[in-house]
Amino acid sequence: RTDEPWRPFNRSRVYMADLESTLDYSLRVELAAHSVFSGHALVSLKKYISVLVKYFPGRPMVMNLLKSLNSWLQDQPGDEISYEALEKIIDNRAQSPNTTLPQGARWVGCQGSQPHFRGYPCGVWTLFHVLSVQAKKAEGTDAKEVLSTMRGYVHHFFGCRQCAEHFEEMAQKGLSEVNTLSAAVLWLWKRHNLVNNRLAGALSEDPKFPKIQWPSPEMCPSCHSVMENGEHRWNQDQVLSFLLSYYSSQRILTDYLE
Ligand code: FAD
Repeated sequence: RTDEPWRPFNRSRVYMADLESTLDYSLRVELAAHSVFSGHALVSLKKYISVLVKYFPGRPMVMNLLKSLNSWLQDQPGDEISYEALEKIIDNRAQSPNTTLPQGARWVGCQGSQPHFRGYPCGVWTLFHVLSVQAKKAEGTDAKEVLSTMRGYVHHFFGCRQCAEHFEEMAQKGLSEVNTLSAAVLWLWKRHNLVNNRLAGALSEDPKFPKIQWPSPEMCPSCHSVMENGEHRWNQDQVLSFLLSYYSSQRILTDYLE
């Protein structure tokens, strides 16, 4: 929408409004492009919702909706589910004020300088980083749980098909080497930087939000070091602690929520 007022925001913070807008778009628009879910797509959908229930640091009303969607999905006996049935659950439950996901996108940290820039894809990256950090904090046993769930979601449902192909290529190459929850957080950070590198200067880049190797030296001085020969090196331990703090649930800002 072009008529939305600009929402001032802090460029070095994560906003719950972006995360909720991402879930809204994912559940009400992206999934709606599929009339029926079956086979691997159905398995991926179930994993996606159950990972959100485990790790999404949402407001109680949003968590209630995700939980009720999750238990409904797990209880479906057949090997096929229609989007229509899923939508009914989302909308029926959403009629209760303590079980709801606000409708309509309100991008804040993911706003673009023009309506066709940023928004949902920015929200997806933000959601994925937040989930990988939450999983690390929960210290579960499956290091790849969040990454393989994202891989499945992107492969089956992400609307940008070219992005999905690129992501699948990256996942095929390196995901098997991820054996700890910390390695999973860093894997996603590294792959996101590879994508940033590939897209820097492309037409899809918002000129007000240039693609950089993230985090910048200004954001995290200790993440960077320069070798004697002038070569740049990442201090991965510092990057990991930066990510764990930057994407932690305690630091997520709740401005602009309905
Ligand atoms: P984004 O890259 O969306 O990043 C969002 C925010 O994350 C940034 O503002 C920053 O705060 C933070 N961030 C940036 N880098 C990192 C990092 N390394 N680690 C942690 N946080 C970081 N577009 C294409 O044109 N071609 C593709 O092949 C493609 N593949 C994609 C694959 C996936 C899985 C996703 C989710 C998106 C893909 N996109 C692709 C979209 C593209 O990556 C951007 O999301 C989009 O261009 C919007 O960019 P942005 O400026 O909002 O920043």
